[in-house]
Amino acid sequence: MEPTPDLDLCDRCLGRRLTGALGADIQSSVAADHRAEHGWSEVAPADCAVCEDRWDVDAWVGVAAEALAPYEHRTFQVGTIFPAACEARERDWKHLNPEVGDSIRTEANRILAPLLADRLGTEAVTDGRPDVVVHVDTRFWTASARANSVFLAGRYTKHSRELPQTHWPCRSCSGLGCHACDGAGVTYPDSVEDCVGQPARAAFQAEKYSFHGAGREDIDALMLGSGRPFVLELHDPKRRDVDLEALAAAVNDGTEERGAGVIGLRMTEKAEVAAIKDGQYDKRYVAHCESEADLTEEQVVAACRAMTDVVLEQRTPQRVSHRRADLVRKRRIHEMHLERYDDARHFSVDVLADSGAYIKEMVSGDEGRTTPSLAAALGVPVRVALLDVVEILDGENGPATPAAPTPA
Ligand SMILES: [Zn+2]
Ligand SMILES: [Zn+2]
Repeated sequence: MEPTPDLDLCDRCLGRRLTGALGADIQSSVAADHRAEHGWSEVAPADCAVCEDRWDVDAWVGVAAEALAPYEHRTFQVGTIFPAACEARERDWKHLNPEVGDSIRTEANRILAPLLADRLGTEAVTDGRPDVVVHVDTRFWTASARANSVFLAGRYTKHSRELPQTHWPCRSCSGLGCHACDGAGVTYPDSVEDCVGQPARAAFQAEKYSFHGAGREDIDALMLGSGRPFVLELHDPKRRDVDLEALAAAVNDGTEERGAGVIGLRMTEKAEVAAIKDGQYDKRYVAHCESEADLTEEQVVAACRAMTDVVLEQRTPQRVSHRRADLVRKRRIHEMHLERYDDARHFSVDVLADSGAYIKEMVSGDEGRTTPSLAAALGVPVRVALLDVVEILDGENGPATPAAPTPA
């Protein structure tokens, strides 16, 4: 298709269509030759349907630098926005050279990136994952910036039996506040997520955070020992280089009051979120048990020995059946021994089990839904009064703690 004579492109935009984003000089000379050949008249940049004479590069650099000023960063990516009508007009002229795909945006980004890098002293990148992305809106001479998330990894401990792992909105009002939650909008006022996230958010000057744990314990279970791995995502952080020792100290200063602590904070990559969510780790527990009949220490020791290295068949427990599919899982109990014998009705056992084993049901038998069980081995009803996770064997905290010797 032959272009119509009422071509409304300035030399620069015509040149870009013919040769690509090779710079104003080449574009203008190629355009001038092409116009002469076709007998087209010159179009002033102010009358150009594509650029409308928007090439105020210094102004673009100025607004972009201002938008990025609050953001600590090493790398950035720049984008530009032009009026939709101008970009559509540019596509109308694509037939001038279908091989050339460069748009006015592509060209503006290429010009802007090195100038902005010079101004800021940081590095412009076009692929990968830059620390920040800035968009210059040439319609309004404004710019907006946003940082890619940073990811903080560590291990948490939990010392309260009333602290959920993650923020728990009220089921009745979904967080709006109602009678059921006394207007708080949450079922539990605090969480491990908030204990770690609030100080981290302040340190990274982030917009918000999301917490990803390597599994979770029941709310009323403690998480002791070397803790449970987690990754905290910090969204739109203005700081990326944070003193992690000071941050850990800030979290741990609140442990006594709030119930959560952290160990071994380090920066990580997004990929670790998926990795810890998929992680299947053996765990060691201490289950504090209550019996309905008197038991001797020797009886408990013998039952623990009988439960060592057995494969449980666990039908989905009644207490979680409303949210998990009803099926039978096979899980191994690697070790079990008596940790402490308090009296004929109260004792604690140390259990090393496969990921996903239901420990409370392994003790009680869950009315026959878990076999074998400690209660069946003892021949009396036994239940877990309190449960603590004492070790997660994910390979990062060294070899498994050797089991304590079983009392003779
Ligand atoms: Zn133009
Ligand atoms: Zn509510």
